[in-house]
Amino acid sequence: MGGKEIKRAESEKIINYFFDVAAEKINLAHSMWALLKVPFREINVHMPMEMDDGSLEIFVGYRIQHSQARGPMKGGIRYHPEVNLDEIRALAAVMTWKTALVGIPFGGAKGGVICNPKEMSQHELERLTRAFVGRLDENLGPNLDIPAPDVNTNSQVMAWVMDEYSRRHGYTPGVVTGKPVELGGSLGRTEATGRGVMIVAMEALKDLKISPKGCKVALQGMGNVGGNAATFFAEQGCAVVGISDSRGGLYNPSGLNLTKVSMYKEETGSLDGFPEADYLSNRELLELPCDILVPAALEGVITEENAAGIKAKLLVEAANIPTTPGADKILNDKGVFIVPDLIANAGGVAVSYLEWTQNLQSAYWEEERVNRKLRKIMLDAYEHVRQVAGQNKVTYRTAAYAIAIKRVSKAMMLRGFQHA
Ligand code: NAD
Repeated sequence: MGGKEIKRAESEKIINYFFDVAAEKINLAHSMWALLKVPFREINVHMPMEMDDGSLEIFVGYRIQHSQARGPMKGGIRYHPEVNLDEIRALAAVMTWKTALVGIPFGGAKGGVICNPKEMSQHELERLTRAFVGRLDENLGPNLDIPAPDVNTNSQVMAWVMDEYSRRHGYTPGVVTGKPVELGGSLGRTEATGRGVMIVAMEALKDLKISPKGCKVALQGMGNVGGNAATFFAEQGCAVVGISDSRGGLYNPSGLNLTKVSMYKEETGSLDGFPEADYLSNRELLELPCDILVPAALEGVITEENAAGIKAKLLVEAANIPTTPGADKILNDKGVFIVPDLIANAGGVAVSYLEWTQNLQSAYWEEERVNRKLRKIMLDAYEHVRQVAGQNKVTYRTAAYAIAIKRVSKAMMLRGFQHA
């Protein structure tokens, strides 16, 4: 199969639109409206670094701290060649709304470094991570700002963050989450975002009166979030018919064997040529015949250009900000049920919160306890969104933003505006 690829939309415009719709519904005061849209602090750093071949490169990094009204700021660090200020600013705000929605005591932040980790050695990635922490460390801390993994960063990168910060400030596992378990990471954190995606998707299927057994699922992205979510969907009896990486995807209408797919990708570095499926573009993947569509890669991929072609009945936004306002309208008009990113992918930050609390107490929990608490956080938040959406006859997205904005603005009013 062929087909053109997706042109991604601007993230900040997208979240400002969704924010405005919800703020209007709750009659948010104009002063608060303006205040909540701007970040508390923006940090832009330049990091000169010697590469393995002896050349010098200057890397650009951002940490945007959006709000600490409800607690220390929290959000991932992304390594990607297309990282930009617009995207990181938007993702930082999303973290503020997400932590407020699921009721955990954090604000929002996000970080990113413009780099291509696929072309860098482990030593280079380590030096870059340590340089980034070195530039940021006065503005990080377990009571100030706590990073976590995001696109192209993992538990090893978080281990370097923890070590570099601890070298400067003394042993501080609570400065970062998503660490390896050996360094104070929580059991269940790696799978948490994917597990949360599955938990809310199962609730949404109940809303739609569809049984998960045999439900066809297509996922864009097979990294931490997409890969784990796919496995959890399969465990629920769903058939994962499509899955992709950055270059393209696979489609088998009878369901893919996920173990074979991962082994093939590990051996060949690509999905192309996998014998038991058709190879297709990421755009085609989004338009596959399926019941559940799960974008689990980057922002702004479901746009006015491709929304009409989406055939799924349920869209579960595992990625942050995957859907533009125009696409959102087209999908709502078509009757596609949308579980928005604020709740769909909140499982990661929920277990990051559990990791942080374990670090602060130096007391560690069994995985079963972590998963039980994750489930409760996700289901409570989902039920709240369901109720607010039903009572006010708004979409789940508007309900989610409205709940979050109310909580953050209340905290800001109680504390005083300078704590934005
Ligand atoms: P990851 O780096 O582990 O995986 C990203 C996946 O997306 C990979 O399979 C990659 O091949 C694919 N991809 C990259 N560029 C693509 C493109 N242009 N088109 C299609 N696919 C592409 O990252 P992740 O941690 O799984 O994050 C995925 C999404 O989930 C992001 O939006 C992230 O912000 C969000 N998220 C992650 C977490 C977490 O705990 N890691 C938590 C909440 C939300």
